[in-house]
Amino acid sequence: MTTFEIIKERVTVPRAAEYYGITSRNGMCCCFEHNDKHPSMKLYEKNYHCFGCGAHGDVIALVASILGISMIEAAKRINADFGLGLDVDKPVSRNDIIMIHRKR
Ligand SMILES: [Zn+2]
Repeated sequence: MTTFEIIKERVTVPRAAEYYGITSRNGMCCCFEHNDKHPSMKLYEKNYHCFGCGAHGDVIALVASILGISMIEAAKRINADFGLGLDVDKPVSRNDIIMIHRKR
């Protein structure tokens, strides 16, 4: 299992969203990727989806997007903020890199 997979197992999207200041009602929140006046983003356990602009991703992409940082930095941030104790400072595994590129 890669570091990214472990993070996604341990931290749900709604939990991370709330932690980084996104308020949601019934799983819906204002999209942080476009100028959203009415909540059009749905937060699922493992990913988010915006019905307005089509933004979509997992918990790491969510944190990267909210904070304006890279996926790697987001993984480190989640690890630190949620006290996961993962060794994210070691070189990123090949699987993680492949996964990041697939998302783009
Ligand atoms: Zn959106």
